[in-house]
Amino acid sequence: MGILEVKGVGKRFGGLQALGDVNLSVAENTVHAIIGPNGAGKSTLLNVLVGKLIPDTGSVLFDGKSVLGRKPHEINQMGISRVFQTPEIFGDLTVIENVMIPCFAKRDGSFRLHAFERVEAEEEIVYQAEKMLADLRMLDKRDLHAGTLSRGDKRRLEMAMCLVQEPKLLLLDEPTAGMARADTNNTIDLLREIKASRPITMAIIEHDMHVVFSLAERITVLAQGTPLVEDTPENIKGNPKVREAYLGE
Ligand code: ADP
Ligand code: MG
Repeated sequence: MGILEVKGVGKRFGGLQALGDVNLSVAENTVHAIIGPNGAGKSTLLNVLVGKLIPDTGSVLFDGKSVLGRKPHEINQMGISRVFQTPEIFGDLTVIENVMIPCFAKRDGSFRLHAFERVEAEEEIVYQAEKMLADLRMLDKRDLHAGTLSRGDKRRLEMAMCLVQEPKLLLLDEPTAGMARADTNNTIDLLREIKASRPITMAIIEHDMHVVFSLAERITVLAQGTPLVEDTPENIKGNPKVREAYLGE
């Protein structure tokens, strides 16, 4: 049984069956990619996993517990964290303040934007945030305003904000969308570094096959709301149906 078990999930928007019958099992501590053409239902599936959408049918178990009907913040507290396409950071706050916010959220179960005002009183939180920055080799940027960081460092900071909550499952929605090759490669390196440094499961939605084949251990190909095939990257590369439909060959 995987850390994430999706069974028979369907979601309809009016007359459109966005997800048909999705079955997906993500094994713990692996990187699992979900690929497929535009409109295949990837984002819809992700939104189901984080509690932003409730499916019409099926079940979603995370760590053996159902996520359906739970609020996004509850699912987050169960250990699922989502990374957005554009880094969601607070540009006017410093790097360390940005990392402290999810520390408070994890401890108190609430999201406090002004948590940073209590820096002096919260040594433990500062310590946690600094340790996280050191882990991601960003401690030298501790007091910079996040808005002034390079694109790559903004992504790194966002990852620090996720990881400080110690998620078991990281969901990444096209983490390299719109990036130039150099930034894409930096993101691949960053994700590999994160994967190698701690027990974590990653489910990644991605269009860029270079990214998918650089990171994924398992790949699910979604087409018209239903998984077409699930296999290793080697077999996906060699699958004529997949090659024709998704790799443009
Ligand atoms: P992908 O992320 O794979 O490109 P999506 O999950 O975004 O696909 O969309 C799947 C299908 O569902 C598409 O046809 C899209 O237009 C439709 N869709 C997605 N979200 C909504 C919504 N909130 N209301 C109506 N249709 C939607
Ligand atoms: Mg999408």
